[in-house]
Amino acid sequence: MTIKSKFYITTTIPYANAAPHIGHALEFVQADVLARWNKLRGKDVFFLTGTDEHGSKNYRTAKNLGIEPQKFVDENSASFKVLTKELHISNNSFIITSDKKVHWPGVVHLWKILEKKGDIYKKKYAGKYCSGCEKYMTEKELVNGKCINHPSIEIEEISEENYFFRLSKYSDKIKELVKKDKLIIFPVQWKNDFLGLIKDGLTDVSFSREVKSLPWGIPVPGDKNQVMYVWCDALTNYLTGIGYPNIKYNKYWPADVHVVGKDMLRFHAGIWPGMLLSAGLALPKKIIVHGFLTVEGQKISKSLGNVVEPLKLVKRFASDSIRYFLCRNFVFGEDGDFSESALKDRHNNELANKLGNLVSRVSALAEKYGLQKTQNKLLKKLKLKEIEKHLKNYEFDKALNLIFEFIDVCNEYTQNKKPWETKDKKVLYELSDSIKAIAILLWAFMSETSEKIALQFSFKIGAGSFNEIKKPLKISKIKKGEILFKKV
Ligand SMILES: [Zn+2]
Repeated sequence: MTIKSKFYITTTIPYANAAPHIGHALEFVQADVLARWNKLRGKDVFFLTGTDEHGSKNYRTAKNLGIEPQKFVDENSASFKVLTKELHISNNSFIITSDKKVHWPGVVHLWKILEKKGDIYKKKYAGKYCSGCEKYMTEKELVNGKCINHPSIEIEEISEENYFFRLSKYSDKIKELVKKDKLIIFPVQWKNDFLGLIKDGLTDVSFSREVKSLPWGIPVPGDKNQVMYVWCDALTNYLTGIGYPNIKYNKYWPADVHVVGKDMLRFHAGIWPGMLLSAGLALPKKIIVHGFLTVEGQKISKSLGNVVEPLKLVKRFASDSIRYFLCRNFVFGEDGDFSESALKDRHNNELANKLGNLVSRVSALAEKYGLQKTQNKLLKKLKLKEIEKHLKNYEFDKALNLIFEFIDVCNEYTQNKKPWETKDKKVLYELSDSIKAIAILLWAFMSETSEKIALQFSFKIGAGSFNEIKKPLKISKIKKGEILFKKV
C-alpha cells in the first residue's frame, strides 16, 4: 500500500463583522481549486477555513446593536459558512476563534511555549491608536494626524501595559528563509515587496490588550487583566484547526499553502513564522498572495454602495459560473475588476455555448446511436502537461484557456464529422472520451458541473481520478441530462 502524500491548505479567516463580499468568495474559490486539484491527483488533502471573531470592533458593534458579541459573531460566521456551502467549497473544517473547546486550548498552549522561551515580555506602551484598524499607528501611517483608511475616526492617545512578542529576535532568520525560498512567497513581486518592508528588521509586536480596552477575546494565561491581541489568537487557527496541541496535528502540519490577500502578507510572512520559530514548529511551505477586486472599476466600499454580496449573486448565477468567472477572468496575484456583465458574457458564451452545447449534443447523439470503442485521436490535442504546469504556477486563467481550447477542438470536430448524419459511433466515442477528460480537469474549478457530466457519461469522478484521463472510457449506456447552463 502506498501512503498518500498530504496537502494542507488554508485561507485566511475573515473577520466576522459583516456578511461576506466578493473578495472573500475569490479567496475561497482559489483555495478550493488548489484543494480539489491536489485531491484529483490523489493527495490526502486537508483544507481549512473559518472566521476570526474577537477584537474590540466586533465587541463595540455588538454592543451598539444591543446584542451579545457571541451572538453577533455567530450570525456573521454563519453567513460565511453558508457561502462555503453555496460555492461548493470543499473545506474539511471551519474553525471559529471564539470556540472555547477547539481553538482556545491550543492558543493558550502556544502562548505558554512562547513565554517559556522568554519571547513574551511586559512593557508600558504609549502610542497613537486607530480604533478602526485596531492598532497603534506609526507617524508614517498618519496623514494630518488621521489614519488614511479611517479619516473620520479620531486617533486616540493610548497608554497601557501590554505583553510583547520578541519578533525582532527572529528577524534575520525570517529574512534569510524568505530570501532563500525556504519560505516561499508567491508571486515573486510580493516576496520582494515583503523583503523591502523588513529591510530594517522586524520589530517586537504588541501581543495583548488590557481587558478594559479589549474585553472580548482569549484571556492571557496567568493574567486576568490582559486579553490576547489578534496575532496569537487568530494566526494560531492554522494549528488548532488540525487538532493542535493534540499530536494528531502532525499529520498535516506544516501547511503546504497559506492563501492570503495582499494586505495579510506581512503578518503571515513576518509575525506567524516568528511565532513558529519561537515554538520550534515547522514553517508553512508557501504563502501565495492574491490581489484585490474592484467592482465596475471602483474600490469596493460600503459608502459607495457597491459591495457585491456573493450570497446574492448565487441566486442569479449558477455557483459554478461564479467560480469559473473568478478563476478565468483574473490573473492570480494581480488586482482585477469584477463586473456582472463580464460574468454574464462568460456564462453565456463560454459555459452555455461552448461547454454546455458540446455536452448536450454529444450525449443526445450517443444516447441515440451508441458508442463504438476506438483510439481517441482527439486527446492528442489536449495540452495536459501545460495545464498541469499552469496549475502548479497558480495560473488558473491559463489552465482554463487551454481546457476551453480543447472544448473548441471538440466542437469543431463534431461540426466537421456531422455524427447526426453519419451516425458514426466511433466519432461519438472519441467525443465522449474527450468529454470525460474535460470533466475531470474541470472538477477542480466546477465540481458540480463535472459531476453532472460524469453521471450522463457514466464515469467516476473525484479524488484520484486524474489518472482516468488517459484511460479509455468504458462503454455503457449514455443518458442526456438537463441543460448544464441556461443562458442568462
Ligand atoms: Zn485606521
